[in-house]
Amino acid sequence: MNKPEHANMPFSQYDTNALLHITNRPPLVFTEGHGMWLTDHNGKQYLDYLQGWAVNCLGHSPACISEALVAQAARVINPSPAFYNEPSLQLASMLVKHSCFDRVFFANSGAEANEGAIKLARKWGKLHPNAAGEHRYEIITMDHSFHGRTLATMSASGKAGWGTMFAPQVPGFPHAQLNDLASVEALITDKTIAVMLEPVQGEGGVIPASREFMQGLRALTKKHGLLLIVDEVQSGMGRTGKLFAYQLSDIEPDIMTLGKGIGGGVPLSALLCKEEFACFEPGDQGGTYNGNPLMTAVGIAVLDSLLAPGFLQSVADKGAYLKAGLEQLSSRHGLEGERGEGLLRALKLGAPIGPKIVEIARDLEPVGLLLNAPRPELLRFMPALNLSIAEIDQMLALLSQVIELARQAD
Ligand SMILES: *Cc1c(COP(=O)(O)O)cnc(C)c1O
Repeated sequence: MNKPEHANMPFSQYDTNALLHITNRPPLVFTEGHGMWLTDHNGKQYLDYLQGWAVNCLGHSPACISEALVAQAARVINPSPAFYNEPSLQLASMLVKHSCFDRVFFANSGAEANEGAIKLARKWGKLHPNAAGEHRYEIITMDHSFHGRTLATMSASGKAGWGTMFAPQVPGFPHAQLNDLASVEALITDKTIAVMLEPVQGEGGVIPASREFMQGLRALTKKHGLLLIVDEVQSGMGRTGKLFAYQLSDIEPDIMTLGKGIGGGVPLSALLCKEEFACFEPGDQGGTYNGNPLMTAVGIAVLDSLLAPGFLQSVADKGAYLKAGLEQLSSRHGLEGERGEGLLRALKLGAPIGPKIVEIARDLEPVGLLLNAPRPELLRFMPALNLSIAEIDQMLALLSQVIELARQAD
């Protein structure tokens, strides 16, 4: 790969203080990315198992996305959400055709799609009050879940401390335990309108909801007249080897949200629902950029790639290959095994050495390895869905080396 022309600019020459300090970033500036590889300001290359946080489902800067952007930018960028545009109509029909849902609303981030799902459920609860005539608005979510960083989605999330960080929180989100149906049932009141969960908890540490739990939830929500909402911002768009993770459990949810992979790297998200629950009326929901043709043209290119014959099967196959490789690595180094679905996987380290591993892996020479530790004793893998087997082997070899180095450093 060619070095970018501005490579070797000293880090100190970048003005990093102009940005609000919202996370601790390493002293690196990334200047180029292709497929599974990122290049920093020194021209050093990194094998990237973050991919923008499970966002770049086709890797960095794939040709189909840059071509879609260029072609659409030359045609029309923003006719306004008050009018129809061709790419958003086409992408919505494709999503409806390949899912159990009938209607789509496009937004710009996962959190915004989830806000829409929460609003849709509350509207439904207003139209379908309880026996006392009161609006139903409570949405049961799961402990350790992650639904976004707006006020309502932080309240919905089951991350410790998040309910009160920017108090007063948005009320109405009691938390149950994933894979514990009785814990959900115990929280149902005459104010409950929905249950919302990630079919695979991503930020929580890559914890799949079991098939039994998903099927049990579907039956329970039907029995109590509640909506079942799946947040597939991370698990959707082919990540698990199915187009959507709910398909792993052979159930049909009522509402689904998509984000991350649907834009392959550009800001695009979606709220989908069954016809029966499409209760928004004009004025209830909107947004300046919703369904803008530049982003939805990319969504079409992404979905076309995922639907190409054999693509989803190859994700499942590579997921199985990565699983086997991580299991071997785990037994070789005396770790605690792995878990996940498809190409969303985690390695259980058995000790809080995740942050150390992330740092050593990044600083490896001559090529670095970018990893994520959502919890100190866990590594998460979310590569591009079209990576090669050689790029899995290379990661496993580098990781084996890094685990040794991390233990020596201890
Ligand atoms: C990332 C994520 C979100 C939030 O998406 P943003 O685009 O960052 O707002 C919501 N839900 C899940 C499951 C996610 O992984």
